[in-house]
Amino acid sequence: MRVLLLSDIHSNYQALTAVVRDARDRGPVDAIWNLGDTVGYGPDPGQCVRFLQDEGAVSVAGNHDLGAIGRISLSDFNPYAAAACRWNGSQITHEEAAFLGSLPLRVEEGPFTLAHGSPRDPVWEYLFSEDTARQNFPLFNTPFCLVGHTHVPLAFTLEDRDGRQQCRGALLAPEVPLKLEQGIRLIYNPGGVGQPRDGDPRAAYLIYDVSAGTVELKRVPYDIAVTQEKMARAGLPRFLIERLAIGY
Ligand code: ZN
Repeated sequence: MRVLLLSDIHSNYQALTAVVRDARDRGPVDAIWNLGDTVGYGPDPGQCVRFLQDEGAVSVAGNHDLGAIGRISLSDFNPYAAAACRWNGSQITHEEAAFLGSLPLRVEEGPFTLAHGSPRDPVWEYLFSEDTARQNFPLFNTPFCLVGHTHVPLAFTLEDRDGRQQCRGALLAPEVPLKLEQGIRLIYNPGGVGQPRDGDPRAAYLIYDVSAGTVELKRVPYDIAVTQEKMARAGLPRFLIERLAIGY
């Protein structure tokens, strides 16, 4: 069994479909777990929501999903994000909005807890530092956790060394299968599908191979120009259009 782990699709249908196609080219995909921010920033919110519904994906809600449906205030968003989020909200149907509104903030799947930002604050907390990760490890019950929100592929590990708990963070490298081990707790971030921010503009995702007990980062090129053209036609902020090409 292989599970596709996605985050921060951000209404980028070109990136989403490229990722799913790439995963299927490599083998069967039995489930999709989506870590939120399905909408916001990009040009195709309805198409991305419907695609995930059709795939039967397990999803949690991110800040942009909640912002687009008016569940949280856009005053905490930067002006570009707020403008795009407002536009995204205006483009989705009542059914699509209701679907986003029905998503949980945290969910457990197998040995993983899924949350958009962090287990402590699924909506807003950015899990970037070892310190923040250390504070979050006691706050979920499963051995492993998956988060998104930073758009950067990261791994945090917590293990006992000589009776002391040690927390380490590292960037994930593509094409390196990482073994899930007993006694080592992990928080993984698959990076961003629709708006990567680690300097690599290719869409990012993780494959969880359940029988092998491994998780592996993949990077996939997609037609960035098509997404950018759609964004320009929608009148979305130029900064958001240009950042896709540089992966920031
Ligand atoms: Zn995001």
